Amino acid sequence: MATVLTEPNAAKSLIRQTKILIDNKWVDSVSGKTFETINPATGEPLAKVAEADAPDVDLAVKAARKAFHSKAPWRRMSAAERGKLLYRLADLIEKNIDELATLESLDNGKPQHVARTADLPLVIACYRYYAGWADKVQGKTIPVNGDYFCYTRHEPVGVVGQIIPWNFPLLMQAWKLGPALACGNTVVLKVAEQTPLSALRVGELILEAGFPEGVVNILPGYGPTAGGAIARHMDIDKVAFTGSTEVGHLIMKAAAETNLKRVTLELGGKSPNIVFADADMDEAVEGSHFALFFNQGQCCCAGSRVFVEEKVYDDFVARSTERAKRRKVGDPLDRKTEQGPQVDNDQFTKVLSYVESGKQEGARLMCGGERVGERGYFIAPTVFSDVKDEMKIAQEEIFGPVMSILKFKDMDELVERANKTIYGLAAAVWTRDIGKAHNIANNVRAGTVWVNCYDVFDAAAPFGGFKQSGIGRELGEYGLQQYSEIKTVTVKL
Ligand code: ADP
Repeated sequence: MATVLTEPNAAKSLIRQTKILIDNKWVDSVSGKTFETINPATGEPLAKVAEADAPDVDLAVKAARKAFHSKAPWRRMSAAERGKLLYRLADLIEKNIDELATLESLDNGKPQHVARTADLPLVIACYRYYAGWADKVQGKTIPVNGDYFCYTRHEPVGVVGQIIPWNFPLLMQAWKLGPALACGNTVVLKVAEQTPLSALRVGELILEAGFPEGVVNILPGYGPTAGGAIARHMDIDKVAFTGSTEVGHLIMKAAAETNLKRVTLELGGKSPNIVFADADMDEAVEGSHFALFFNQGQCCCAGSRVFVEEKVYDDFVARSTERAKRRKVGDPLDRKTEQGPQVDNDQFTKVLSYVESGKQEGARLMCGGERVGERGYFIAPTVFSDVKDEMKIAQEEIFGPVMSILKFKDMDELVERANKTIYGLAAAVWTRDIGKAHNIANNVRAGTVWVNCYDVFDAAAPFGGFKQSGIGRELGEYGLQQYSEIKTVTVKL
């Protein structure tokens, strides 16, 4: 079992893999170019990583296509064997859990103990969940008219391109690889340029687990270059993307303009988190704090529009402000830290510009709003009250530790306001009244609704967006549908 290294330089010794994984070999990029990944807690470089671009994507697609050939080992392997490989991968991740959590923390900035107790267990559970599905993906027999035997086969889609973001690098890798591999696809995965390190380490574990050549190819690189090459590639059958809504549009356009590859998208959000006056206020305050500030506020489903019933509004604002002021911001390798830095300077600057816009548009800054310390990308937990629906901070995804608290009077007005956004990823409601809870759950246009809880994720429960928050669902049985083609076979009797 790896030890937890809590000193940054010692932790850097964990960085072993910085190349591209193609056809089970670690290679430099065709161009020879590299890019630096930085430690957001210090702003200093951690490592130079091979920079994949279109020619590398081409090589990866060739390897994945070869691995998808009907005579290749992967295709000839039984479904149960595929499941076994996924179980083995989950076991190896578990064996290296401390090391992976530290790498994740170094590269992303999230507290190490959070990665260790929140991200990694979900990663392992996700691989195990889909390992179990591998030999349960099956078609139906269909009672058609006439003397025919008709059945369906659920076949893999083929070569799948996957593009993931930096906010949960290992978890997003698991959400993508788990169902794709369980269904028998081969994969070209581009990891985010901000956080390539942990996914590459998992690449080593994929080799150790014994996946055949070319089944999983992992490419660090930039979005418009390597990511764009995946979206446009004529020999990729499907692209699965998690990231911003803006880039989601580009992915879909690229697919439409090339080979109509299947597209699944998990995009942005501006999720309403609704607090009724009858809620357990201690739980609602703590839960809403968690809903927004978890992962430095860098969650697509963050509860970023907190609607609070008029009667308890002032009390809720006061208590949420007090809680935010107590939030411990600091060194991600320190066990007591609740909040680390934002992932990079771009995000840091963007979040602070939203704070400025909130102030200019007349929202009331209750706390935070400024940088913490002199190095790294730390932002003080920020709370705005008196936020109005039309303000930018209530409309756009901030992706940072900035809570916006809005006031509401009654249910009718509330549902309409909660739905008045281009997004529809998640929502939550805090109440002791089961009628109100179900009313919100039924009427809010979002892919996930949490009642008296937030960010409860499980490999078995589907996740995805209504409206411009995405297309398709990940996780659970629904997640499998996105990775199989249905074939109908009809036999004359
Ligand atoms: P964020 O704003 O949170 O960084 P992005 O949508 O920009 O989200 O990035 C998510 C992922 O999409 C990353 O892996 C990034 O490299 C990739 N990406 C960014 N731009 C493009 C693009 N034009 N085409 C394909 N992938 C892209």
